[in-house]
Amino acid sequence: MIVRRRWTAAATTAILFSAVLSNPAAGTAAPADPAPPVTLSATETALVRVQLRDQAQLDRLVATGADLANRPRARDGRILADLVLSGTQLAELTAQGAKAVQVVQRAGDGSRHHAESVRAAQARTAAGLRAPAAGQRTTAAAVDTLQVQQAYWWTTGGQTFLQAQVATTATDDPDVEITVSWRTADGATGSFPLYRFEDSGEYQYHYNLPQPVPNRPVQLSATSSLGGVSRVVTPTLWPNATPPPLPAGYQKDFIDAYLTPTDIQARIKRLARQYRDLVDVIDLPNKTQGYRRNAVAYLGDPAVAAVVVESVRFGDQGMNGVQVRTVDPGRPNRPLTVGYRDRVLTVSLATDTAGKTVSTTDEVAAAINARQPNRFRATVEDGSAGLPMPVAAPTRLDDGLQGTEVSARPWTVQALRLGVHRNGSRVGVLAYSQEHAREWATPLVTLEFAERMLANARTDPATRELLEQVDIFVIPMVNPDGANYSFNDFNFQRKNLVNHCTGAARDPKNRTSWGVDINRNYTVGSHFDGYVGASANCLSGNYAGTAELSEAESGNVIALAQDHPNIKFAMNVHSYGGYFMWPPGAYRADGRVTLPRPSIDESTLFLTSARRIVGAIAQERGTVTWPSQTGPVADVLYSAAGNSADQLYYELGIFAWDFEVGNDRWNPATGEWEGVGFQPPFDEAHGESQEYAGGLVEMVRVARDYAAAQPAP
Ligand SMILES: [Zn+2]
Repeated sequence: MIVRRRWTAAATTAILFSAVLSNPAAGTAAPADPAPPVTLSATETALVRVQLRDQAQLDRLVATGADLANRPRARDGRILADLVLSGTQLAELTAQGAKAVQVVQRAGDGSRHHAESVRAAQARTAAGLRAPAAGQRTTAAAVDTLQVQQAYWWTTGGQTFLQAQVATTATDDPDVEITVSWRTADGATGSFPLYRFEDSGEYQYHYNLPQPVPNRPVQLSATSSLGGVSRVVTPTLWPNATPPPLPAGYQKDFIDAYLTPTDIQARIKRLARQYRDLVDVIDLPNKTQGYRRNAVAYLGDPAVAAVVVESVRFGDQGMNGVQVRTVDPGRPNRPLTVGYRDRVLTVSLATDTAGKTVSTTDEVAAAINARQPNRFRATVEDGSAGLPMPVAAPTRLDDGLQGTEVSARPWTVQALRLGVHRNGSRVGVLAYSQEHAREWATPLVTLEFAERMLANARTDPATRELLEQVDIFVIPMVNPDGANYSFNDFNFQRKNLVNHCTGAARDPKNRTSWGVDINRNYTVGSHFDGYVGASANCLSGNYAGTAELSEAESGNVIALAQDHPNIKFAMNVHSYGGYFMWPPGAYRADGRVTLPRPSIDESTLFLTSARRIVGAIAQERGTVTWPSQTGPVADVLYSAAGNSADQLYYELGIFAWDFEVGNDRWNPATGEWEGVGFQPPFDEAHGESQEYAGGLVEMVRVARDYAAAQPAP
């Protein structure tokens, strides 16, 4: 993964406006650190929020292909990154000056949360219950001027927050400190520092996380350490858009546990059966590889000397259990031979005149590849090159897959099409989710959305009207193979199950790093075109694949959109972090040249629609997606070369958005925003499904209003 974000924290010592601080609760004082120390055993893998020592440390992590789970963020001047790492890797980072601040999710937490959610749902069903409700005053000495680019406020859960973005004209001075001062309607005042934000080596602006304030802020201004002063502005209410109220009896809450791919398949089938007049199920054209892998074993001891032997076919195609062994022929002057009989691959080692075995690891691997190329592939284990091949105990090939209840067959990915007129005559909307396997909350969002539209069609005239006017497409699960692996083998699996690695990278110790990042495999602004944010390394979390659209999964999304040219709006649902984004989603490294910016009119449509949708999300439980995280991908997140929304927008003319569901939650006790992770305890995932389904319903209203405003053909 290549994240070229760069933060330079202003020194926190000189707070220019500390004297005007009259509300200690809302000021600049950093809260005490009451969190227990974070510890991981050496071999344990976890998702950890880590405070990095400096930018160089982040750059090193990125260069080595670290699994960055989210955009590294400036938190009060600290660089915080969410990383999937082992205890050993965390210990190395800590030794280099990093500090772990939160274990977001441990390996296995997801499986436990899945099991808990299923048990609880079953208990509720057994009990007959439903799912839980849930100014230009610049002084003469000033050498810079300041522009307030954004100042927004909102109230959620009884707490009012303020967020500001300010730009200095002294763009090249990394030491400029900017402080924001505010005044509330009832006269309280306070201040907080902003932090410099650079992306791809270029200054963007200063900003900070949403800051708690005691009441509605009515004035905001900024000053810089160079003497620059901004105008006094009035902060704007965010998002200041409210969806129509839900009618009495509106039906929702159709999600009562995490859903595996098999569960999702069953749900699609049930919806099609239950709402025949309103649903088509579309089988997408490309079958996936299936939940399958090549069977593999170490011949020899990988700690001493070994060759990795792998079946050419998948394990479930008769290759699991095949035995491999090396034997000493017991006679002098024998050649190296390879034979395969009765599901046993036998490598008879060469001997010298004294009868001692003399074959090397390289010779054994080459012999297997030469004699049995249609059945086996062999590579020398890392560190074993040129070593004498030991007479190894027989071992059996195995695909290593743990999911015993999962079909190994290639998977047909399905889309639901919802509407009264499913013939292309109405404006189309596409919602798709789980391109990334570990993002378990995302299909809950799209399925809750689909079922709300269907269940309310008969009882709520407004829902019926939407289904009259809009043609809705939903792909709940783009990446079923990866999802099966995430549920059964490795909760942190992001990519699909196709292993394009060659040579030593196919070593089974890399088994949780194989696969293609589906959302880096599309054609526009791609890695192959020189854009930033995807990798050619098959072990990287952002591996782009062998070519644009090399994967069945990405091809399916594009095929659906191409086959239905009435689709005009799309939402690509991911987790986590609480973002609402649109194109451009990528830039080139040199000069940070983005894909073309949308026109003014289109940018206005993107933003006004986003505010409506953010407002609808907030209706459920008050979750407010921050203004700093609402905007073009390349501006608010990072460059994501070859992502699907960019292809949908630039190639197919679709207004294409991305959600990152799972917003950080404010912890009033610690004064920290806390990450929720990919597979939180189910109550949180349930909350995400409900609020973001509401956001998708609002997207349907946006599409209806857009279509109504178009001139008649
Ligand atoms: Zn994702």
